[in-house]
Amino acid sequence: MRIILIGPPGAGKGTQAERLTKKHGIPAISTGDLFRARVKDPNDPLGLEIKAILDSGKLVPDEITVKMLAERLEKDDCKNGFILDGFPRSVSQAEALEKMLKEKNIKIDAVIQLKVDDKQLVDRISGRFSCSKCKAGYHDTAKQPVVAGVCDSCGAKDSFTRRADDNAETVKGRLNVFHTQTAPILPFYEARGLLKAVDGMAGMDEVTTQIESALTSNNGGSQLPPPKKFG
Ligand code: ADP
Ligand code: ZN
Repeated sequence: MRIILIGPPGAGKGTQAERLTKKHGIPAISTGDLFRARVKDPNDPLGLEIKAILDSGKLVPDEITVKMLAERLEKDDCKNGFILDGFPRSVSQAEALEKMLKEKNIKIDAVIQLKVDDKQLVDRISGRFSCSKCKAGYHDTAKQPVVAGVCDSCGAKDSFTRRADDNAETVKGRLNVFHTQTAPILPFYEARGLLKAVDGMAGMDEVTTQIESALTSNNGGSQLPPPKKFG
């Protein structure tokens, strides 16, 4: 199965991607994660270039993004399918992906849109942090670890980190980028009969249920009411 998750920053793509990975045994590929991994080496000039872009909340240029994604899709673990989280993020990336997949003779099965209010997003994102050891996600108000400073999932101490771009100011810019550059890919996939909308404001388990039922609906259309117009 090949799935694309689309939604604004903080919509819960990462959480749902991880659940889909467990259930379907296919890798979740996050271009954001690929970039953050690249930024870790302080002697890597491309890493430095990418870091400045991530900190600004703008999109990394297609030449870099599409190449990295293409390399990732070449890996063996993608043979039986994959989940894309954070790619494509613009119409030009959607077109590049379509071309790439055509050459491999494979197709996307579903594009899942996670719909969330902007107001909630700033809150969700500015409060979030995660365990650097096991990637478990937390939130200042919504989900604190049971024992302060200790990860519930893996027991690591003082392993919590916050993303440099998860501050209120950058978040607004990222939301703006979503609405102007990413939202136009929704009609692109709608036209191909692939778009399925789920309610990203619902609880995490409910969102998972909605995604699973969208994936098993075989009519190519959404079982939910059509997505509201942006703007
Ligand atoms: P979020 O969805 O919360 O914004 P991501 O980890 O998906 O988090 O993305 C973080 C940043 O990485 C983005 O703000 C952008 O700078 C960069 N990025 C991620 N995916 C892409 C992409 N497909 N094209 C260009 N830039 C990207
Ligand atoms: Zn942990």
